[in-house]
Amino acid sequence: MLFVLSSPSGAGKSTISRMLLADDPGLTMSVSATTRPMRPGEKDGRDYHFVELEHFRQMVAEHEFLEWAHVFDHRYGTPKRPVYDMLDAGQDVLFDIDWQGAQQLYQVHGSDIVRVFILPPSMAELERRLRSRGTDANEVIDRRMARAHAEIAHWDGYDYVLVNDDVQACFEKVRTILHAERLKRSRQTGLIGFIRKLGTQPV
Ligand code: ADP
Ligand code: 5GP
Repeated sequence: MLFVLSSPSGAGKSTISRMLLADDPGLTMSVSATTRPMRPGEKDGRDYHFVELEHFRQMVAEHEFLEWAHVFDHRYGTPKRPVYDMLDAGQDVLFDIDWQGAQQLYQVHGSDIVRVFILPPSMAELERRLRSRGTDANEVIDRRMARAHAEIAHWDGYDYVLVNDDVQACFEKVRTILHAERLKRSRQTGLIGFIRKLGTQPV
């Protein structure tokens, strides 16, 4: 399963992604490539693969991305190979990508994708979270706030929409979605064999 978390910047998707990954050994994060500068506390290869524009362009030309997009004056993309390796190893893959990326993944992997959109409780709280994170300069925060409405406008391209008021409650809702989606009949491998073992003809 390809599990996508999107939100306007600052609504809490990185926080919730970290909680999900710590909770669930069956889930692995897709590490995107980006041309944006590294923030304090970030680590190359863990948070992103930080690459020069020329390198990013080359990756695009060589079809190394599953999807990619321009976000906030920078480019972000999902390297294809690691995602397929993780899926082949039986892992579900978590994506922290924007609506453009979610749309592109849906075009390629429609039925394997689950899309969750996280909303802030209010715009004032969104701004407070961006400022309290302390990782971006004022003008970067202003641009992220200006973009937030454009991102929220894509809420209806998602399977689930949650408000991140209380972080623990929101995390538990996302975890419930992940667990329920795994139980869908279409995602249960080996079910036909099991039905046969029960002595019933599957169809
Ligand atoms: P995003 O990945 O969507 O840009 P982050 O996960 O970095 O957002 O969250 C932005 C800031 O808001 C962080 O400092 C985080 O600790 C804080 N935060 C996240 N969720 C909540 C919440 N429910 N209540 C209060 N603060 C939160
Ligand atoms: P940030 O700069 O805050 O880490 O991320 C900015 C935005 O880019 C977020 O909305 C994030 O979800 C999105 N993003 C991160 N990686 C990718 C990616 O690989 N593809 C796309 N389409 N968006 C991404």
